[in-house]
Amino acid sequence: DVLPCVKILVIGNGSVGKSSMIRRFCKGAYNENYKKTIGVEYLEKEVEIDGYGDVRLMLWDTAGQEEFDEITREYYKDTDAVVLAFSTDDRPSFETVKSWCSKIKTICADVSMVLVQNKIDLIQQAAVSSQEAEALARDLRMRLFRVSVKESLNVEEVFTYLAQKQLEK
Ligand code: GDP
Ligand code: MG
Repeated sequence: DVLPCVKILVIGNGSVGKSSMIRRFCKGAYNENYKKTIGVEYLEKEVEIDGYGDVRLMLWDTAGQEEFDEITREYYKDTDAVVLAFSTDDRPSFETVKSWCSKIKTICADVSMVLVQNKIDLIQQAAVSSQEAEALARDLRMRLFRVSVKESLNVEEVFTYLAQKQLEK
């Protein structure tokens, strides 16, 4: 078949919820147990986008700490859009966002990127203020989504937003 296809990478530090987000969106499932991602995996989901019809999203997941080897090259190739995620209760994951962003910009030209603050359900243990998150998004000219993969809050919005952006290109 000839469905339009959008390749989306999910990046960010380890344990911010990248794998959980992809699993939640593609399979509607959530698991408390942390299983470290080894290498690269992807899942697909077809969605209907207003005005465009059905689209196939390919969501690429990876371990965050890998080097630029053959696997990573394959991973970044032909990327259309990027989800850059950090976690509400993890200060270092927030502080690494800028370097993730510049890394992506040197490898993938012309991708749409969004900033995701995951684990918003842990707002009581927040290590990042909402002003800081907003300021960073503004700095990097990215739209900010506040998400809880655990509570299934705002996950679909992230991916349909990126799909829409890609189709409008
Ligand atoms: P990854 O290393 O970025 O792929 O992170 P994982 O998806 O493996 O998630 C790391 C841990 O965070 C797991 O124990 C998840 O259950 C948990 N987690 C993921 N999303 C959320 C969320 O929205 N809220 C909370 N409280 N925990 C989450
Ligand atoms: Mg993972």
